[in-house]
Formats: sequence, structure tokens, C-alpha cells
Amino acid sequence: MATEATPSLPRRYHIWTIGCQMNKADSDRLESALLQLGLTPTPTPVEADVIVLNSCVVRQSAEDKVVGMLTSLKPLKGKAPERIVALMGCMVGPKTDGLKARFPYVDAFMRPQEYRPLLQLLGERLGMDAEGCLSTLAPPHPGVAAYVPIVHGCDKFCTFCIIPYRRGREVSRPIADIVREAGLLVARGVREVTLLGQNVDSYGHDLPGAPDLADLLEAVHQVEGLGRIRFLTSHPNDMSQRIIDAVAELPKVCEHFSLPFQAGDDQVLQVMRRGYTRDDYRRLVERIRHDVPGVSMSTDIIVGFPGESEAAFQRTLDLVREMEFDKAHVAAYSTRPGTIASRRMEDDVPYEEKKRRQGAVESLQEGILARINARLQGEATEVLVEEREKGKWKGRNRNDKLVFFEDGWDLLGQTVRVRVEKTSPWAFQGTAMVS
Ligand code: SF4
Repeated sequence: MATEATPSLPRRYHIWTIGCQMNKADSDRLESALLQLGLTPTPTPVEADVIVLNSCVVRQSAEDKVVGMLTSLKPLKGKAPERIVALMGCMVGPKTDGLKARFPYVDAFMRPQEYRPLLQLLGERLGMDAEGCLSTLAPPHPGVAAYVPIVHGCDKFCTFCIIPYRRGREVSRPIADIVREAGLLVARGVREVTLLGQNVDSYGHDLPGAPDLADLLEAVHQVEGLGRIRFLTSHPNDMSQRIIDAVAELPKVCEHFSLPFQAGDDQVLQVMRRGYTRDDYRRLVERIRHDVPGVSMSTDIIVGFPGESEAAFQRTLDLVREMEFDKAHVAAYSTRPGTIASRRMEDDVPYEEKKRRQGAVESLQEGILARINARLQGEATEVLVEEREKGKWKGRNRNDKLVFFEDGWDLLGQTVRVRVEKTSPWAFQGTAMVS
């Protein structure tokens, strides 16, 4: 008599992640859950019983990669139908009908931070209450530096951005939760945490008593054994004097702000719905630089936004020249279906022109970086050692600059004073100083 084959129990997982640090943090948390359920990681999807793609749709190129990966999984699923395929992240909106029709072989669709559909499915297969078995979702084997999401979603609705539609409205985690997680991470060897949010500086307004990021920084600062605290990304309109003062006054908080300006022209900023002007932004940077000595600044810029004339673009270049950022991420605008810009604006800057503008900002920024980094030549800088790469120790200084140096001792997780001997736009090379 023929018996129905019992599907084998899921044992191995593979998580593929693309996109921002929030996605990386979400994947780490899901991984923590899978490990707690007894699954083990595999380096490739072929050997995995559970395959998770954590997606990004901020740019077309990212979405294309996700679709490519999903398509490549179809034959794998065909060969072993009991294999679980899950799609997570910003590609999954509130409605999944379209995705289900397009990718019928996907077993679970999960919005950002929504682990439940996969965990429930795994619980059924494993015969257990999967969620009830989980303690914390903090990564079990973190490195020296770890991300801690503190606020999910975004309430801003910039016209070019899909994030608020995919990640939803802002939801902050309670301070006590975050402090507990930071303590746990320190116990697992972490020395630096980066507090993450789409708009990290709007943290707390939805919590009872409306604490803010300054309150949270103070609370996390008290975690014993933690050496450094960073936070990103900030919105210029949510950056308060209290937060700036907290960075200036709390020794563990690194002197670095990630503050996107997106465009240097007021008209473009207005149609982007950024809510500030070029001069508002300049005044804010001036205030931060005045109040936080030695601070470094990074920014995000979009070129080729609908209606961006050559004169408007030149104003972006002027602002980059004037601000002397320590890092600038430059993107050529691409229409994202579902955004206000895609519905109401004509994508009227030709692709080649967008690329020319992107290249112009990048090459200007490279020159600026070469010049400002050269100022550190011969100086001492404090490096938290994060890993070993190509025979050298690698870490970052408080200003988030990459530093490589040679030393025979095991310095992983140590804070080391390094004399900078060689600089480039992207990194420093140096020698450990004997203290
Ligand atoms: S602030 Fe604007 S760009 Fe940033 S996530 Fe929100 S909508 Fe997107």
C-alpha cells in the first residue's frame, strides 16, 4: 500500500539580503529566530530547506536583482516542493495579491520586521509554537559593532520615496527594550552599537511621555562595557538642539551625523517635499559643527530629479563644495512606482544626463575627501578594531573613517590609537601607537 511521504523537517536556512542597514538588521533578527529554532545556516540557497530573500525596492537596480534571485529559485522549489521560499522586505507591500500571482512558488510574504508568517509556517512543520520558543531576536553571534533598530517606518512621504508605503508609519521601540538589547549585545562581545531608523532623530514621539533620541542616547550611554554609540539616518527637520547637545556631551556618542540634504535647490527640495530650504540645511550644519567640535558629516544626494535644470543642479554642486562632507552617497533619480513623483511628475532628465550629474558630484566629492582626509596625515586617531582583512587590522575612528593598520597582537574589539601615515579619499593607513 502506498503511503504519503512525510516532508523532511527544515534544518538549514539561507538568507539573502540587499538594501540598507535596516534590512541587514532585520535579517540578523530573523537569523536569530531561525537559530533559536535549531536551524543552521548554509552559504548557498541550493543546500537550504528555508530560503529567505530580504528585498529592497528603493532603486530599480535593487528590485531587478531581487526579481532575478526569485526567478532563479523557481527550479529549486520545483525539485523540492517542501523547501520553504520566503520573500521579505520592502518589495512586500500591504497587499500581496500581485506578488502571489507573479511568484506562486513563494510560501511566505513578509513586510519589513514581519517575521510571523515564516515562523508560523516553520512552527507547523516542526510541530511547535515557534514564536513562543523565542527569547530575544538580538543577533546571537554579533561582531564588534552591531545595528540596533530603534524606530521603524517613516511619516515623511518625500515624493520620490517608497519607504513609507512599505515600512509603514513610525513605530518606536521602548527605551527599556533597547537598553536591554544593548546590554545583551555587550555581553556577546559588542563594543559599538548603531541605533537605526529611517528617521532616527524622530525617535520616541509615539511613545508614552514622548522621550526623544537624546533621552535614549543617555540611557544607552549607561550600558556598562559599551564603548561607542552611533545613530543614523537623521532628517534635518527632526534634528533638535537636545540631540546635538547629547552628541557633544556624552563621551560614548561618536561625533558623526548622517544628514541627507538630497538637493541644493529650493524649488527641487519643495517638489521633493523635504520640508526645508537650502539655507535651513546650511544653518543646521553650521550649528552642529559649532556645537560638536571635530564632528564629521555624511549626506545623501539625488541628482536628475524631475524638473532639475542645469542651474538647479549647479546649486547642488555648490552646496557639496561648500559643505565639505566626509561622505556623500549620490544616486541618479529613478522612478519608483507607487510614489507621488511617479504619479505626478515627468521623469524628464535623460538617463545619460543623470549619470553625468552623478559623476560630476562624485568626482567633486572625491577631491574634497582627498583634501580633508589629508589633514589627518601624521595625526593620532582612535580606532575601534572590528576585523582583520588582508593581513591588516581594520576599524573605524570616531568620525566613521576606515582605518587599516598592521600589528602582531590580537586587537579585535580593542580601541587603539593609530598614527595616520597614508590617506586616500576612502581610508587611512597607519601604525598602532604604543601607549
Ligand atoms: S524621510 Fe523621505 S526619504 Fe527618508 S524614508 Fe522617509 S520618505 Fe523616504
